Amino acid sequence: MLREIIEIDEALCDGCGQCVPACHEGALQIIDQKARLISDLMCDGLGACLGHCPTWSNDSGKA
Ligand code: SF4
Repeated sequence: MLREIIEIDEALCDGCGQCVPACHEGALQIIDQKARLISDLMCDGLGACLGHCPTWSNDSGKA
């Protein structure tokens, strides 16, 4: 069964970090000036980070 997780478009991400505290699961970190999902298992797929990204780099996908 597929579930929703966050996908980050590295071409759009400017590394501002606004999504990191927005994720209550602690699934996002800034690494090499880009937001990274550090573990698929930590993402609950609810999209709390989506509204905090000024460049619309975050989107939901399936994993
Ligand atoms: S809020 Fe958007 S632009 Fe900023 S680090 Fe997160 S994904 Fe990148």
